[in-house]
Amino acid sequence: MDSIPPQLPVRSKVTVTAIPGDGIGPEVMRATQQVLAAADAQVEWEEALAGAEAFRRGIASGAPRETLDSIARTGVALKGPLETPVGHGEKSANVALRKTFEMYGNVRPVRELPGIRTPFSGRGIDFVVVRENVEDVYAGIEHMQTPGVAQCLKIITEVGCERILRLAAAVAEAEGRRKVTVATKANIMKLTEGMLKRVGEQVLAEYPSLSNEHMIVDNCAHQMVIRPEQFDVAVMTNMNGDILSDLAAGLVGGLGVAPSANLGDGVAMFEAVHGSAPQIAGKGIANPTALLLSALMMLRHVGDFATARRIEHALYVTLEEGRDLTGDIAREAEGVPTQQFVDRVIANLGRESALVPAREYRPIALKRWPQITWYRAASTRELVGVDVFVESERDPRAISITLQAAAEGSAFDLAMIGSRGAQVWPEVAGHTFLVDHFRARFMFREPPKGNGIAEITDLLQRIGRQHNWMHIEKLQRFDGADAYSKA
Ligand code: NAD
Repeated sequence: MDSIPPQLPVRSKVTVTAIPGDGIGPEVMRATQQVLAAADAQVEWEEALAGAEAFRRGIASGAPRETLDSIARTGVALKGPLETPVGHGEKSANVALRKTFEMYGNVRPVRELPGIRTPFSGRGIDFVVVRENVEDVYAGIEHMQTPGVAQCLKIITEVGCERILRLAAAVAEAEGRRKVTVATKANIMKLTEGMLKRVGEQVLAEYPSLSNEHMIVDNCAHQMVIRPEQFDVAVMTNMNGDILSDLAAGLVGGLGVAPSANLGDGVAMFEAVHGSAPQIAGKGIANPTALLLSALMMLRHVGDFATARRIEHALYVTLEEGRDLTGDIAREAEGVPTQQFVDRVIANLGRESALVPAREYRPIALKRWPQITWYRAASTRELVGVDVFVESERDPRAISITLQAAAEGSAFDLAMIGSRGAQVWPEVAGHTFLVDHFRARFMFREPPKGNGIAEITDLLQRIGRQHNWMHIEKLQRFDGADAYSKA
């Protein structure tokens, strides 16, 4: 290993909001700040509160106004883990921060680290998972439909897909990567997951330096385990990305060494993937590697590539040599205190590890999305029917008789009854387990003259005389294509 000359300091200081957080948060934050200071990173910290203490002070979001103001001012935050109190009805402060600043992109590098033994060691795993962070089932729109049937809406928007895909492409370009894998469940959820696939085909074609591919997300999970080297940048909707990014972190040593960035328009928040580890909090033995790696992403974000590189090499040398590691990654039985690990990393500043992948980083070219209500026009729109969701303990044939009677004299014919996505009337082969939640599909006999609302209201009143209906969905066609799933 050669020595690398100290880098020239960046001239102007960057102010960063530091949220130490809960549990081991303050310990790993202090450790990270020490290493950055020793490497002469030109960072000025503005410390801010969020998490358990904020909840104790009665701040329902877990993130006080001053903290939000600080992030809005600095545009960059380094954050320790925040506890989500269980059983008090409080929301997660993490989610509050992400949503307040619309940090729509979660970026998680997945890279093999020296000295961290895993079943995948030596495979040269080095990719990035880009996860949509604000849409999907995580929008949290849930309703009990009947006392025994729950529903969660999966909201996917075209512009949300475009944002995350352009971010994935920007990450690829910033890191000199070559391929973007769009992983979706488009084979089943053709409209929601299919939207990411479809928009991906359009948007990624605009990046000639990148190849792109589509992969069904369950196969993607399988491929990440059997041949993880094939991935470069993988982009996914929120829940798929949540699961697969944790799976990916497991390939290279687990949550304790996994960094991440949450990116939005004008705001970036960097944090370790792990939580507050309450069992070891206050003992001075936590591993600060994940937050330190997150801080390196932060330094690159503010353009200080040289200091990031210098610290990265010192960390790699420390892990490679295996001396003075914390208990969770120590090769010998005994680990050392956090401070001893920090001192070792600092002592290694200026040394170079041959194992740091050669990568020319450039700033991530984040597109600024105008603050408007995104409106997508269609050249033609038709209303062709309505799905009415009804609660009933009767069997499908009996329900069809009452619903057909209800539709008599209305503008609709009953076309189909479904149960949890399977057609149960008219009868088809097979056996569907029945619950008290049915979807009745009514089609207009002829196109409505106006907007169809009067006809739908009339139908609902007729159905309501015999059945409890919970919600309806209009069946529409946009630009000549069906805008609803088939039974
Ligand atoms: P956790 O990540 O805190 O702990 C999981 C295991 O990993 C524990 O054994 C812990 O001791 C160990 N561990 C984690 N980080 C470590 C580190 N840096 N050094 C050494 N060991 C480490 O997960 P959990 O126990 O499920 O969650 C605890 C709390 O953290 C919960 O309140 C949860 O809501 C919160 N949490 C916050 C975030 C966040 O702020 N982004 C993420 C996950 C969990």
